[in-house]
This record gives sequence, C-alpha cells and structure tokens, in this order.
Amino acid sequence: MKLVVLGAGESGVGTAILGYKKGYEVFVSDMGQVQDKYVQMLAQYQIDWEECGHTAEKILDADEVVKSPGIPDSAPIVQALVERGIPVLSEIEFAARYTKGHCVCITGSNGKTTTTTLIHYIFTRAGKRVGLAGNIGHSFALQVAEDDKEWYVLELSSFQLDNMFGFRAAISVLMNITPDHLDRYDFEFQHYIDSKMRIIQNQDKRNCFIYWAGDPIIQRELKKREGDYRAPAPTPTSHSAEPGHPNLIGFSDEVFDQLRLTFSQMGRHNQRNATAAYLACRAAGINDDVIRECLEDFPGVEHRLERVGEWDDILWVNDSKATNVDACLVALQAMDRPTVLIVGGKDKGNDYSVLEDIIQEKCRALVYLGADNQKLHESFDHLGLPVADTHSMAECVEACRGFAEAGDVVLLSPCCASFDLFRNMEDRGEQFMHNVKHPQ
Ligand code: ADP
Repeated sequence: MKLVVLGAGESGVGTAILGYKKGYEVFVSDMGQVQDKYVQMLAQYQIDWEECGHTAEKILDADEVVKSPGIPDSAPIVQALVERGIPVLSEIEFAARYTKGHCVCITGSNGKTTTTTLIHYIFTRAGKRVGLAGNIGHSFALQVAEDDKEWYVLELSSFQLDNMFGFRAAISVLMNITPDHLDRYDFEFQHYIDSKMRIIQNQDKRNCFIYWAGDPIIQRELKKREGDYRAPAPTPTSHSAEPGHPNLIGFSDEVFDQLRLTFSQMGRHNQRNATAAYLACRAAGINDDVIRECLEDFPGVEHRLERVGEWDDILWVNDSKATNVDACLVALQAMDRPTVLIVGGKDKGNDYSVLEDIIQEKCRALVYLGADNQKLHESFDHLGLPVADTHSMAECVEACRGFAEAGDVVLLSPCCASFDLFRNMEDRGEQFMHNVKHPQ
C-alpha cells in the first residue's frame, strides 16, 4: 500500500513514521521548506520525501493520502486527488486505526486549547497514561507509533474534522459554533457548522457528547439530527443513554455554580471551559476531588487573557489568541474596568457589528493595529470613541498609553489573524508584552 503525506510538519512527519512502521510504502511531499528536525526524523526511517513542490505523478499514485490540516481543499493537488477518488484523510483518522487508547476530543470555535490543556492537566494529575495532541502538543500519530497511550486528549480544528470519516471519539466536547475560517468554507457558515458537528459522528451508546447548551446553533443542529440522537432535555445537565445513541450531556451556564466549582481563570467563558472539562473527566471516571483541585490551581494558557502586569494602576492583558469576533466579545465581557481595546490584523471575513454594544458599554478607546485598518474604521468609527490608527506593536502600545487612565485595562484581543504584521499570534502576543514591559 502506498501512503502519501502532504505537509512535512509535526503531524505529517508523525504520520509518515507511523505509516512506515505499519508497512506502508511512504512518500512525503511539502510545498515549502522542511525544518531540519523533521528532515532528520525522516532520514532516521529512510522515508522518501521532497520539499518546495509536489511531484504529481508520485502523489497521484497513492492508495491513501494524509494531508496536513493547513492545506486547503482548493489546493490543486488535493483537487486532483479528489477527482481520482483517492481518499484524503487527516492525521487523526489515520492514527486512530492503530491506537488502543481512548480519545477525548475537543472542538468549537473558541475555548479548544484552554479546555484541551485543562483536561490533559487533570488526566495527568489523576495518574493516567495520557497523550496531548491534535492542534497542540506532539503528533498523535508519532505517539501511537512510538509510545501508545491509554488515553489521548485531542484538540480538533474544523480542518481536521473535515478529513475524518470512520473515527469515533470516546468522549467528545463541542464548546460553541460561531463564524470563523469562513474563507476556507466558501464563505458559507453552514459548511463550517457541518464540519464542527462531525465530532459526534460514529459515536454510540458507549460514548458521550458534551456540549454547551447555551449555543443556539448546536441546539439547532442536534434537533436536525433528532432521528439519530435523542434531543437534549431542557434541564441544565441532561443525560440519556438510549441503546445505540451517544450519551448527550448538554450543560448551561448555571451548572458551574450548581456544581460549586471554582476555576483559576477569569471570565464566564472560562467557567464554561471548566464545566466542560469537569464533565469530560467525570465521564472518564476521574475522581471528583482531583478534578476540583486541578480547576483551582490550573495555571492557564499563554496568550489567552494572560495578565501581563499592572503599572500606574493600569492592567495590561494579552489575549492575542482572540483571532475571531466571538473571542473578543467574551474577553470584553470578562473585563470589569474601562477598557482600551486593541483590534485588527488579517480579516477573515468578520462581521464586527456584534461587538458594537459591548464596545460602547466597556471601551474608553480603540486602537487599530493592522497593515490595513480600513474595515475597522468603517465598522467602529461611527461609535464616536477616540480611535488611533497604528501599524506596528510599538506604535500601538504607545497609543494605548496615551488613552489609558488609572483604573483602566488595556486589552489586546484583536478579532483577527496576525499574519499581516506578525509571524503568528504568539509573536504578536510576545511583542505586545515586550513593548508593555519595556517602554521605548
Ligand atoms: P481555541 O483553541 O478554540 O482558539 P482558546 O482556548 O485558545 O481557544 O481561546 C481563544 C480565545 O477564545 C481566548 O483568548 C478567549 O478570548 C476566547 N474563549 C476561550 N474560551 C471560550 C469560550 N468557551 N467561549 C467563547 N470564547 C472563548
């Protein structure tokens, strides 16, 4: 059997090694340059590979192809594969065939990394043999190849879900569905929704599906599937264990208080993440006291409402990971002080109008940070707040200093991707923190 892997990054190289160990003839192809560490890993197993281009004949000869989630379906090589009926899978689909472990899978438009990291933190503390993978951590396939675990906590993006077919999660978690990545879904929100709902596919009565019941889209989609899955009851936690159906566990915002949970991270949205993690860990049979302890001392995740520090009674918060409108909305909801908000970057087809009310309620001023701030001007200038137009982090932080008064918070929660001015969202967050801590 011939396996072709498109994209020689963390997931691709892991897949190649797993494929090699399982007896496939493997070929790896990357449009860009392959990092040294991955070159060495491929060399170790004498796996054939290429970089800076795709050799069509070699790729179209595959029995199966695993593609990196970063490669869109519109890429010509992917279209050629689809036309020929060659299966294109995600790393998760491929690796899951070979693991004996149970998978806890987390998706949603926002809250994935926080919830995934938290669940992994709790599993580790509970003494489970657990791997962390998907969008974060080390390749799932590589862990399966080299040191298979009893449990995996997997963060799944919609792009990974798109290429998953037979995969079944033991426990799945869906946090919310709000418009994101529409540029990869023909600007059709429903296509993106359908992709997210794939997290429940193939689940049966041995499995459970945990979701935030406050999300109207998830409720609507579950209703549509009522024939397949029992509709959620309108109680805060609804359990059903009908034969053949996964156990649907919807939770409302009240559940956090009803369960008397306390969580180390700020904001209502983080309480949702904590509740989802609590329910997932309980479903996996983890001791209640261990979970509660972990919720109290969880250190948080970088670039997610991360406190940079407080100077002259002005608090600076780095939420660089807020790359869509909804993430910025919940960040503003979590603020209890007048806010100088930094927004902008590479727009992904955002509709900013949902932010108008909360900006008017919470914000003292807006600082636009992007290569092109035109759409921000069109969306927000009419609110009548002071605005500044900036094109570098140094300029941006300077403008914030000009606006902020004692008692304020300055919040970087940009609603947009970072690639117009920064390498990635981490670079954006780090530059922000550097400029805040080291005034020019
Ligand atoms: P993801 O991995 O889905 O991008 P993260 O946990 O990294 O999610 O959080 C990204 C941003 O989304 C955070 O900075 C926060 O502002 C927002 N966020 C986190 N959890 C939620 C949630 N449950 N609902 C809505 N927004 C959230």
